[in-house]
Parts: sequence; C-alpha cells; structure tokens
Amino acid sequence: MPPRPIIVFDLDDTLYSERDFAISGFKACERWLEEKHGASGIVDEMTRLLDEGHMRSLFEIVLAARVPLSAKEEIEAFIDVYRLHEPEIALYPDAAWALDHFGRDGPLGLITDGQHVVQSAKVKALEIEHHFEHIVYTGALGGRTFSKPHPLSYEQMEAAIGVPGRRFVYVGDNPAKDFVTPNQRGWISVQVHRPMRIHSRAVAAPGGAAQHELHSLEELPGLLAGLAP
Ligand SMILES: [Mg+2]
Repeated sequence: MPPRPIIVFDLDDTLYSERDFAISGFKACERWLEEKHGASGIVDEMTRLLDEGHMRSLFEIVLAARVPLSAKEEIEAFIDVYRLHEPEIALYPDAAWALDHFGRDGPLGLITDGQHVVQSAKVKALEIEHHFEHIVYTGALGGRTFSKPHPLSYEQMEAAIGVPGRRFVYVGDNPAKDFVTPNQRGWISVQVHRPMRIHSRAVAAPGGAAQHELHSLEELPGLLAGLAP
C-alpha cells in the first residue's frame, strides 16, 4: 500500500469547538466584570448574541448595558480578557482519535488563522503540539494579510514537511477560506462538518468547495484509502 498523503489540519471548529472557546472566554469576561464593576450574569447573553451572529460587537453591547459610557480603553480591556484568558476547551473525540491514529505513520501539520497569542493558547490548552511536525500560525507571519487563503502558510508547510511523491491533504471546516489554496496547489481538500461551528453562515469562495466532505474524522482513513495515489 502506498504511504498515505501528508495530513494538515485546521484548528478552530475542525479539531475542537470554537463555540466552546467563546463560552470559556465569556466566563472569564463575567469574572472580570463582577470583580471590577459588580455586574454579573452575562454568559448567557453573550452566548445568545454569538449565536445570533455577533462577534466583536457583542462585547460592546454587553459592556455598554452594564457600564454605560465605557471608555474605549475599557472596551479594549474587556476584549483582552476574552482574548488572553486561559481557555477551557477539549478536542472533539474523533479529532483526538485522528491525531493518535495518523500521528503514528507520518508527519502531521497544522495551519491556523487568528492572533498568534490566542491560537497558541488554544494549542497549549488542548495539549496537541507534540502531534505536529510543523505548525503555521498565520497571525505570526504578519497579521491578517497572510490568513487563509493566502498561499504563504501552505507553501511553508510544503517546504517544512513535504516528501517527494506524497500529496498533501488539508482538513478544515470553512469553505470560505480553507480549501481555495489547497485546491489550486494539487492538495486533496476535505471538509469536516461540525454542526455547531461558528462560521456556519460562511459560503464557499470561488474554487473553494472541498473535494470531499465528512461528518467525522473517523471516516478519513476510508476516504484516503479509496483515493488514487
Ligand atoms: Mg476552522
């Protein structure tokens, strides 16, 4: 049997639930607000606003309702509590299984967007760094400019762990950005469907639909075994 392709994963909503990260951050915000302003009970409201599609604006909405006339610095401090908290998150069970299973026979990679400090705190909390031969934090490459689908992170991954004659697979959740560049570079692209994912409203970018779709990473060995080498 030919060696399997080299597998590179996305992080948020592929290996763990980003909504869980958000709720973990909202709890940190609640503790901060209680301590600093004596206001309480904001986790449910923040979660509802998130589920309605708010992102950054939800911090302003919640803070303005509890602490009227908040200075800009106060809002920034509130958001920093969220960004810099120590996350309480866990791998999806099928992701834990996949990292163990595929880590045994060849290198794995990780490409993740977002601020470096936030994403590396997630990797640390999930205790997954040792599974990866190479990790690209696109936020560390020079900010959002190099977020997916910018090709730089994929090029760096190829240079770092590429092996002649072996294809790459990118496993992600978001057709708005994850698969555009893999499709252009001859990678195999695989979308895993996570029902609670945060970017559920994202639509596929032109050329960004995944070649294959799964509902669990436990389906990945069968998928790869059925592909031409
Ligand atoms: Mg993702």
